Amino acid sequence: MNQNDLRQLNFSGLGCWLTLFATVWLLGALGLGWLIKSFLVLMVLLVLAPVVAFLGFRWWLRRNLVVAQCPVCNAEVTGVSGMQATCLNCGTQLKAEANQFKRVVSEGIIDIDAVEVNVEAVELPPSERD
Ligand SMILES: [Zn+2]
Repeated sequence: MNQNDLRQLNFSGLGCWLTLFATVWLLGALGLGWLIKSFLVLMVLLVLAPVVAFLGFRWWLRRNLVVAQCPVCNAEVTGVSGMQATCLNCGTQLKAEANQFKRVVSEGIIDIDAVEVNVEAVELPPSERD
């Protein structure tokens, strides 16, 4: 390492900030304060843009994320509202609508829900027996 390298290493610490300060002061003295202001605005925008994007994405996700049960196997499925999802348990194609999942069926097929009926409800009333 020769003397030139040492000088550059020392410059990268405090000297860097001194140079920056001197440059800012010089530009301000020359009436170029707008350049510094626009640069600062740009820096603030660069810092704030990812934060705003992240918060916006979280808000959007909270509104559109659907966590509900699979209508086929009752396993918990997570999906985005209006988009298709696949049940990881049974592999059924599902579509998230109004905070619940429905099976994706092709046209001409009617998807029905089987309802378990109590035997007593099906039996005829005593007056109609025999
Ligand atoms: Zn399933």
